[in-house]
Amino acid sequence: MEIFEKGLILKDSIENYKRYGKSVGFVPTMGSLHEGHLELIKRAREENDIVVASIFVNPTQFNDKNDYLKYPRDVQRDIELLKEEKCDIVFIPEEREMYPEMDNRDFELGGLDKVMEGKYRPGHFRGVVQIVSKLFDVVVPDRAYFGEKDFQQLTIIRYYIKENNYPVEIIGCPIVREESGLAMSSRNRRLTEKQREEASLIYKTLEESLKCIKSKKIDEIKEWVMNTINKNNMLEVEYFEIVNDKTLKWVEEIKQNTGVVGCIAVYCGDVRLIDNIRYN
Ligand code: AMP
Repeated sequence: MEIFEKGLILKDSIENYKRYGKSVGFVPTMGSLHEGHLELIKRAREENDIVVASIFVNPTQFNDKNDYLKYPRDVQRDIELLKEEKCDIVFIPEEREMYPEMDNRDFELGGLDKVMEGKYRPGHFRGVVQIVSKLFDVVVPDRAYFGEKDFQQLTIIRYYIKENNYPVEIIGCPIVREESGLAMSSRNRRLTEKQREEASLIYKTLEESLKCIKSKKIDEIKEWVMNTINKNNMLEVEYFEIVNDKTLKWVEEIKQNTGVVGCIAVYCGDVRLIDNIRYN
């Protein structure tokens, strides 16, 4: 596996592969890799000649400095895991490589960045799109792989790519969970064993809510989910919204085949966890 720190050198190397007609699959990450990330790498491995991963904890997508500072980092282990998955190239830039100068670009995201995560983490999606667009300019992938765990992020990236005619196929991959049902996340490393156990209530509750989509109204489902989780004194729901999977607008009812997803953010101590469930 080749390791690159400089974008220009990486770009050159990838262009060389492309000259020989090789397809390139790309998996952007912030490192501290777990099985969720590795599933994206596996899928990219299956579908492309060359697999490129990136590891960069992007400061512009953190609205909370503490969250950025505490974000787990473990690059040596990540490199070993990527090698095991037969990743061909990993890009590990330093901050000044990605942001050599102020980048004040504004991004038109159709309002998708103003709700849910965007409401509670102002500027988060601007940072995400900023770094993803910079990475795409370097890697120029044929396909890029993102997890459905960050459902809103995936929706926004799809929107941005389409609006700006990027010639890349965005592939969404299912959420990988721990045995308890807790969605895997690099932030889970910051949970104590007890917190990790209690946090499994998040997905258990979402799963349970599937059973009442026919008998309860949307508001009742929302209230039930939030109350059930909040009853646990180690957990606090920040939001739970039931939205259309493309517009991210609230839906009034869950109609068949209309694309409805429930998205949740929950604090467990000072660790913020997100998850979601598809209702149809
Ligand atoms: P991150 O390192 O958290 O920025 O995540 C990098 C990519 O991995 C994103 O596309 C995430 O959605 C995806 N990802 C993170 N956790 C999971 C998971 N549990 N299942 C599937 N994909 C995930």
